[in-house]
Amino acid sequence: MTRLKPITISLIIALTFCFSNVFAQPSERDNYQGESPKYIFYFIGDGMGLSQANTAEAYLGAINNTNGIQKLKLNTLPKQGFYTTYASDRFITGSAAAGTALSTGVKTSISTIGMDAKRQKPLQTIAEMARDKGYKVGIVTSVSLDHATPASFYAHQPTRSMYYNISLDLSKSGFNYFAGGGIKHPEGDGKVDSKNIMANFGMGEDVDLKNKLPNSIELAKKRGYEFVNSVKEFNKLKKGDDKVICIAPKLVGGKSLPYFIDQNGKSDISLAEFTEKGIELLNNKKGFFMMVEGGKIDWACHANDAATVIQEVIQFDNAVSVALDFYKKHPKETLIIVAGDHETGGMALGFSGSHYHSDFAILQHQNLSYESFSNLISDYKKNNKGNYKVEDGLALVKKHFGLGDAEKGLELSEFEMQQLKTAFDKSMNYNKKMKKDDQFYLLYGSYDPLTTTACHILSQKAGIGWTSFSHTAAPIPIRSIGVGSDLFIGFFDNTDVPKNLMKLIENK
Ligand SMILES: [Zn+2]
Repeated sequence: MTRLKPITISLIIALTFCFSNVFAQPSERDNYQGESPKYIFYFIGDGMGLSQANTAEAYLGAINNTNGIQKLKLNTLPKQGFYTTYASDRFITGSAAAGTALSTGVKTSISTIGMDAKRQKPLQTIAEMARDKGYKVGIVTSVSLDHATPASFYAHQPTRSMYYNISLDLSKSGFNYFAGGGIKHPEGDGKVDSKNIMANFGMGEDVDLKNKLPNSIELAKKRGYEFVNSVKEFNKLKKGDDKVICIAPKLVGGKSLPYFIDQNGKSDISLAEFTEKGIELLNNKKGFFMMVEGGKIDWACHANDAATVIQEVIQFDNAVSVALDFYKKHPKETLIIVAGDHETGGMALGFSGSHYHSDFAILQHQNLSYESFSNLISDYKKNNKGNYKVEDGLALVKKHFGLGDAEKGLELSEFEMQQLKTAFDKSMNYNKKMKKDDQFYLLYGSYDPLTTTACHILSQKAGIGWTSFSHTAAPIPIRSIGVGSDLFIGFFDNTDVPKNLMKLIENK
């Protein structure tokens, strides 16, 4: 047997130490000896990768004449990490599989909510664990309460489109505060529409039902929930009110809160206000766990609508700001993490046609979302049957995107003009039965052609590129502050996020 020289032994020890550091994430978690946070904020920006947040910062910098960027609150959090997001059966994840990974610490299959990949076994979520440890639990979102991300924290269903069953799980959870968007199908699920992909993913309109099932909101009331649906009732809610389902009075497509850009600068109840109310209602001696989702960042990214994305990111950041104010009062007891489920749109801070040029300030000339603009176009189509004029389409684009307005510095090149004219023609002749070829999809996705083209041209003039109408597999940043936040530094997997949180509260 050969004897190892002392220097070789120290080398082996050094190497072992090096390699164990490569896996620092799990071992740090296993060895965590610190306190359990009493107040936990878990923010999830749906579809929010690095670019979405940084574009909002570049935009704020540009309109406020600062050089470079103006930092979002969420990017002032001192600890940062990144994680991978792949699902068990697809590299590019979806909100259900990603939400389940972020809520349970287990990789699951696409569309599955709170269950294992084979859709056989329900999985415990961090919110349920927090509830069982005595925390009060809140779920806040700008999309419907039964949408994939919020559902992943309280529901256990084989697919995300089982909205009715998910809404039954909602009141079964016993969580203390649900707030934001509505319940998509309180009386049973409509037929799944194979043509209308958006509706199946909860973004579009709902289907009427012939056979109604027991109303899940009424059932929630029987289970002891108070149902609040107006600004007046919302304002009346106060400390001590428990088991509240609070739905914004004005909802748009998919029972979601309206896009901020469509609200003339003032929303009925903002995501930040829902978060603030959550703190008031949930705060108690045993602490609370609150998940807050900015759900429509994703939807606007699917549509490649940069101006709307920016406003949604800012709304989300305002909610983070509310939590940070709370943190300042309770720094030794609070943990805030700001995460995302996946990136959407392949948003990039650069576009081939604009070379090295960026001009984020021009995005302020867009005054409504892709959704509202599409509605204008479909109204125009209805009201002017057979008498469509391309000048009318271009005038609408100029009014709502500023495109073609020389005073705004948004002159159109011949090529851009041609793109808009072709798209207008497609919009007017477009119907649901039309077979769309590959080129059609690459240009317009599943959206109104003129709307998508206007969004693309404005993005491109600003120096923003889009590679997809779907999600991408880009790793996602996570920012954190407070008790236990050291566990969220490094490059890990999305499943590590709830595993860390579970570790932090297991001995509470
Ligand atoms: Zn999405």
